[in-house]
Amino acid sequence: MDETVFSYNLKVVECSTCGAPVVTKAAGGRVSCSSCGAPLIVAERFRERRQAMRVEEQGRIAGLHAQVESYHYQRSIFRKPEGLESFTEMLNDPATRSAGFEAYRQSWEKTRRRLSENDTPETETHFCRLALSMADIFSTSGQNDRVRAVLETALDLLREPDYRDIIRCRLARFALLSGDAVAGAAWLQDVDPTPLRIEVDTEYRLSLSLLHLSGQNYSSMVELLGSRGGDVPLIPQIDGLDLCLRSHGCAGVGDIKNAKRSILMSANQHDVAWVEWRWQSIPGPATSFAGRTASRAKKLASLAFSVAAFLLVTVIFVPVCTPSCYFVSCGSDVSQAEAVLVRLRQCPAAREALGKNITWAVGSSCGHGQCGPRFTYVMSVKGDKARGKVRYNAKQHGKSKIITMAYMMVDGKRVDFVPCRPIKK
Ligand SMILES: [Zn+2]
Repeated sequence: MDETVFSYNLKVVECSTCGAPVVTKAAGGRVSCSSCGAPLIVAERFRERRQAMRVEEQGRIAGLHAQVESYHYQRSIFRKPEGLESFTEMLNDPATRSAGFEAYRQSWEKTRRRLSENDTPETETHFCRLALSMADIFSTSGQNDRVRAVLETALDLLREPDYRDIIRCRLARFALLSGDAVAGAAWLQDVDPTPLRIEVDTEYRLSLSLLHLSGQNYSSMVELLGSRGGDVPLIPQIDGLDLCLRSHGCAGVGDIKNAKRSILMSANQHDVAWVEWRWQSIPGPATSFAGRTASRAKKLASLAFSVAAFLLVTVIFVPVCTPSCYFVSCGSDVSQAEAVLVRLRQCPAAREALGKNITWAVGSSCGHGQCGPRFTYVMSVKGDKARGKVRYNAKQHGKSKIITMAYMMVDGKRVDFVPCRPIKK
């Protein structure tokens, strides 16, 4: 078979002098950089010597779930390299992109030297983050040979086995995304299939799922990623890869309900165009309905928002908040409304009409707060037997208002209760 840019049979690292990709056989050897001519000795690819399984699978999964619970992006290996935040932002703008990338390049060179002189856990972590970020940057600009070289250089230099496995998973992922399933499978064969660290486990699940997608092995995808979030321990992916792959796996085994569930979760975080792009960039059984599902979800969400807002105002807000909200907004106050209720309860004709436990009711309207010395208010009331509407007038008297007249309408009949008069038949 022809060698591809991610071929496992080749070794591709960066020239230590100029950074250009240098290609040798997997066994390495002496070579001169085709870009700057520097003579290089490329080492043979390192093979991990795995120890026997350390914990039972059940305990391992429980441990991974616990790590998901306490997972923090800022502390994870997947965060952007520390100290380069402002340059990361520059990468998004075409005008400042090259300057931003130059900062990454310099940090990469500096850390690479430090790694060979004095290898500390902090240096390892920074170098691994740089490698993952730079691979993404190269990938965005379509430079797959640079993606390959930066990742395999990191694979050569990193000493932490977990980091090396993450790099291998990324090499597999890029190989699979470029259509090279053979290379993807080969890179994954070197990865510990039962890691203890959640970041490695998640990377492995995602990359292996991508391999299964290329082989249309959907039930294995569901096994790896679960049908729903939380089925398996998995770090949520900012790029939605987990949701996209899970939906393809579910759709592939005919579980359309859960396939749509994953699409909806993505639609909660992104707009419809993004969901369409994501599902088209990694095509699979759910691609045909991803955009439609997301767009329907958005319409329902905006409808639900209106309904929720309506309910909040008329059902939740009103009984919880009242009567203060209404009355404060129209110039009355709670104590005044309470005073009206007290007078209402004292009136036998009102008690006869409404029953016991007379109180303020849902559906009150603000009434007609007029400018000037006189104010008219309307308030809904209810008792055990019936509901009614109270209208009352208040007059400004110094700093307070006094109630001058109040009557209640029940079933089209009027009860005057300031002063109290019986219902007119
Ligand atoms: Zn060179």
